[in-house]
Amino acid sequence: MAYATINPFTNEQIKTFPNSTDSEVDAALDAAHAAFLSWRETSFAERAKVMQKAADILRRDSEKYSALLTLEMGKLISEARAETELSAAIFEYYAKNAEKLLAPESLPVASKDEGRARIIFQPLGILLAVEPWNFPFYQVARIIAPQLSAGNTVVLKHASNVPQCAEAMDRLMIEAGLPKGGFRNLYPTHDQVSRIIADHRVRGVALTGSEGAGAKVASGAGAALKKSTMELGGSDAFIVLEDADLEKTIKWAVFGRHWNAGQVCVSAKRMIVVDKVYDAFAKGYREGVAKLKMGDPMDPSTTLAPLSSQGAVNDLKKQVEGAVAAGAKAEEIPLPLPNAGAFFRPVILSDVAHDNPARREEFFGPVTLLFRAKDEADAIRIANDSPYGLGGSVFTRDEARGEAVAAQIETGMVYVNHPTMVKADLPFGGVLRSGYGRELIGLGIKEFVNAKLIDVV
Ligand code: NDP
Repeated sequence: MAYATINPFTNEQIKTFPNSTDSEVDAALDAAHAAFLSWRETSFAERAKVMQKAADILRRDSEKYSALLTLEMGKLISEARAETELSAAIFEYYAKNAEKLLAPESLPVASKDEGRARIIFQPLGILLAVEPWNFPFYQVARIIAPQLSAGNTVVLKHASNVPQCAEAMDRLMIEAGLPKGGFRNLYPTHDQVSRIIADHRVRGVALTGSEGAGAKVASGAGAALKKSTMELGGSDAFIVLEDADLEKTIKWAVFGRHWNAGQVCVSAKRMIVVDKVYDAFAKGYREGVAKLKMGDPMDPSTTLAPLSSQGAVNDLKKQVEGAVAAGAKAEEIPLPLPNAGAFFRPVILSDVAHDNPARREEFFGPVTLLFRAKDEADAIRIANDSPYGLGGSVFTRDEARGEAVAAQIETGMVYVNHPTMVKADLPFGGVLRSGYGRELIGLGIKEFVNAKLIDVV
């Protein structure tokens, strides 16, 4: 059975879900289209009520939702609560702001002949969301909150290892009062996903996931001439300059690489430290990682969660072996391993030479690539020596210097004195092989609307 809940803490299979049948897919598309025809006519105030209700329900039943996140993908319960709250905050953000963000814009025109020109923003129709397992609610919230607020309807294909989270989002929107068909979770095969993309009523696709999945889904969208947004992998640089507050920086580095068990597209995956403070940073970082505790993600004393599956552990081990075979030095931090579960001991990789393929790979788990940079310019050069362009961070006591360095990093987001973070009111997205398009705030809501010119001459 493709869709299944397997608890990563025990590796026990809890529940399986059959794939959607072709007629279920067709019925969902019929319902989503019928819902679109009336939902697009509703006022922003009506849509805001549904979004606010979704936020309220997530907060009211936070414990139930958070436990489901931990059960299906293994994240720490504290991180699950934070994700549930973040998802609620996104619904609330669009409840409060969608109308303003999509308000018609008058255009300043050069001459009277051009008339009275303005742009209005209209929904497109059904969108397909293809989402990954690492943030099962947040990834869905950040596409459905803006797009339902804009008047579109959405069909979801979630990752095969989080079927109960997918179902929970489906029920959440029904309870929040969204008209039937406005949002629908399916358990489709990859072939059915291709068919959904090709359906003439589907007007766009948003995907978060790996480059491989992105390339396949984006080419399907391209062949059908449909808009897509792609939020793909990343290998964020975490630059430490010689004037950084080392104690704070090391704490952020340990957190930035290990939260969500390191399975975040914007995890701080490459620590790039200038020579003057490299040894002190490396020592403090190693000590910080050695203090992490693996264990039951429901236990509040656990600080390093299992990976999402045993398969993910096996793949990451192979990736580390590949890096070592190509000349890197691997230091495993000897944390005690729980008896069962998809656990992975943190590894620090150094001496990752320019021609080592690991330098261009994304390590989706607690593996740190540590680089010694000669100076600031060298750190920027190493940071930009990556096929990815998602987030990044710079640590320095001099904010102006931090901003100047940030401007030279080729990514969609850079933070000074903080690892890349995720908030309801900040945009998210990247460049290069990290994908294209932006999610959240006004940029996200405008990805799937028709910016229509109306000119009264
Ligand atoms: P995938 O990219 O394979 O999965 C993401 C989503 O895409 C899932 O819903 C998946 O469904 C779907 N998908 C994959 N291939 C296709 C296809 N051909 N047609 C339609 N849908 C498809 O991620 P994995 O879980 O396999 O993780 C592998 C790697 O992806 C990670 O190691 C990491 O590098 C990266 N990743 C990045 C994320 C990010 O936030 N940027 C999040 C998750 C992963 P299904 O589960 O059914 O295959």
